[in-house]
Amino acid sequence: MTIRSQEDIVTRVWALRANRWDIFGFREEVLVEALDLDHARQVLTPRHPGEWTQRVDHESYARNYLRFAIGKIIDHRGNSASRSVDKLGELAWLLVRDDIVAAMDHARYPMYGAPKVKAFADRFDWPFLDGLDSDDERALARMADGQQCDPQGCERGCAD
Ligand SMILES: [Zn+2]
Repeated sequence: MTIRSQEDIVTRVWALRANRWDIFGFREEVLVEALDLDHARQVLTPRHPGEWTQRVDHESYARNYLRFAIGKIIDHRGNSASRSVDKLGELAWLLVRDDIVAAMDHARYPMYGAPKVKAFADRFDWPFLDGLDSDDERALARMADGQQCDPQGCERGCAD
């Protein structure tokens, strides 16, 4: 997969900081891990430079992170879900998929961001509902459609 150049990533980190788009640093985390040591030094001071490990397989990371994000949605974990949506958006940017960034921006954010996460999965052509048990599959499909997880009404937070 194509990824952004090291220079582009550094520029983006500075832009996130300058515009305060990333108060908690979750997006930055995704980006900084993709930098080699020389470029990482431009945006932070690694405490143990000798141990700096650059993440190289962004696709596996993104695929795994997608499963993690889906788990947070199904578990109705609001804060974690919101953080995962930010990180997935940043991974889409890193993988030079501006179309996916736009699709995620365009999707609304009800139900813990389920529609945004579905937009991410669908456009990469990665599994969204696969591997879930049938109850979770049904719940996630509804949430991705902006509905409460349970047709009888959700008691775990969908309605909030
Ligand atoms: Zn629910």
